[in-house]
Amino acid sequence: MKRVNESQPLHGDFPNTGRRRFITTAVAGAVFGPAMPALAQAADASDAPSHAVARQMEVDSAAKVVAEPARKTPVVAEVDVVVVGGGPTGVGAALAAASEGAKTLLVERHAMLGGMWTAGLLNPLFDPRKGWIVDRLIDKLQQRGAWVRKGMDVFDVEVMKYVLEQMMAEANVEFWYHCPFTEPILQGDRVRGVIVESKSGREAVLAQVVIDCTGDGDVGARAGVPFEMGRGTDGLCQPMTLMFEISGYEGFRDVAADRLATHEFYRDLTKAIEKHELPIQLPYGPQRSGTPYLIALPGKAVAVVQATHVYRVDATDVRQVTRATVEARRQVHEAFLPAMRKIPGLENLRLSQTAPQIGVREGRRLEGRYRLELEDLLQARRFDDAVTSIGFHVDLHELDPQDSTPKLPEFPPGVTRHTISKCDIPYRCLVPKQVQGLLSAGRCISGSHLAHSAYRVTGTCMAMGQAAGLAAATAIQRNVLPADLDGAELHTMLQQRGVQFLPRA
Ligand SMILES: Cc1cc2nc3c(=O)[nH]c(=O)nc-3n(C[C@H](O)[C@H](O)[C@H](O)COP(=O)(O)OP(=O)(O)OC[C@H]3O[C@@H](n4cnc5c(N)ncnc54)[C@H](O)[C@@H]3O)c2cc1C
Repeated sequence: MKRVNESQPLHGDFPNTGRRRFITTAVAGAVFGPAMPALAQAADASDAPSHAVARQMEVDSAAKVVAEPARKTPVVAEVDVVVVGGGPTGVGAALAAASEGAKTLLVERHAMLGGMWTAGLLNPLFDPRKGWIVDRLIDKLQQRGAWVRKGMDVFDVEVMKYVLEQMMAEANVEFWYHCPFTEPILQGDRVRGVIVESKSGREAVLAQVVIDCTGDGDVGARAGVPFEMGRGTDGLCQPMTLMFEISGYEGFRDVAADRLATHEFYRDLTKAIEKHELPIQLPYGPQRSGTPYLIALPGKAVAVVQATHVYRVDATDVRQVTRATVEARRQVHEAFLPAMRKIPGLENLRLSQTAPQIGVREGRRLEGRYRLELEDLLQARRFDDAVTSIGFHVDLHELDPQDSTPKLPEFPPGVTRHTISKCDIPYRCLVPKQVQGLLSAGRCISGSHLAHSAYRVTGTCMAMGQAAGLAAATAIQRNVLPADLDGAELHTMLQQRGVQFLPRA
């Protein structure tokens, strides 16, 4: 990868203009109201891009806005493909693009790859055997004894972090941690790269194709792609869940091996609460979907628990997400742990950790050239430009326990959300409207609230990621825009690489 500023000092020794400007303008910066003109001019005198940040801004207290002056941002890398977000989708996208010869950079705000797999502490990996890179990952986990198939496909979270890093290194994918994306670089309707802001400052990365794997569609939304969130009628999204890890009991494996454990676990919890008259109300009732899950992890007396639920949270509002995290952690300490410790055998249960990141089930869904619908599942649709197939059911947790609107439509006789047919995801769902040079993959693709609940699981997301990576690399090789790729040809290319699809009629 070409690091544009390799010859420039990034740390310690500021470039000429930088340090002096920092000192003078930092003093001026302490002054609110109209900027001091002489110092402001000095600050803007140099055209050189700089990592030093000391810019005069106008604060309009009445309008509650700050006017930021134009600036020159250093370009620190030029690549073929930049992938934003290192969750299951982003890793799939980056590995696929790199394996097709594209210089690939991935930027991730956390200090680990894996997204919900690792920062979110989720398990199991649903809808796993998708072929190509997804299978390679599972094989690597298996080789290390970190993948167990017993009722559910569970993996060791720490090994997952390590294996993902090793796979990225082997594929020559550069990745930057602690590196939040802030803005797309737009020229007309074309994305030319991204701006990131980190401890290194505000920096630009130029790329031919950007792949939005942020889960919440951050890149697309900031580039002006129209998007939807939540239920069509009122925008209500699925609840958030903070996963937590417990230890101190040898028998988790047996408890969790059976899917029925979900209901038994819930029954035991409610019994314990009643018997011991605990001042606790579980956040949902027994008939509702989203009852607690106790998931034993491979090889250890350790399990993760999917239990907390926080409703009516907007995943794109940092203050709401903060409050949701605090509320979910409160539920862990005040509801679930005390109740679980009353279940015979679990008296010595210990909380190992709550997840670093609250789990977001639903954020933005970027509008694309096709919107996947529940009807596509009901009709078991196959598409010529399929990038993967959905192998999971409709999985919609209660949107709000107080809300009496049915969350699911009536299905045809004999069909339930579990038995609903499966369908393909067409490439067009990954191609956002209105903006060129951009692909989306994972839970932020174009689909309805209900279809999303089936394609959001991690096996499907990683499969979408690998397809987006292949599409990006192929478009670059052919000197065309991703939107102009022949989706049917992409489908064939994916098959040639071992991607598994639902059988065709
Ligand atoms: C509580 C919960 C339980 C679930 N259980 C399961 C399960 O058991 N099995 C299953 O298969 N699926 C499960 N799912 C669904 C699944 O976890 C997600 O839908 C899936 O992780 C989506 O993958 P993704 O890569 O699109 O997003 P994510 O996993 O959310 O990854 C997005 C990545 O992008 C990074 N990112 C976001 N914004 C920025 C930014 N601005 N700059 C830089 N980086 C950024 C994030 O840090 C993260 O690493 C669950 C979801 C939740 C919430």
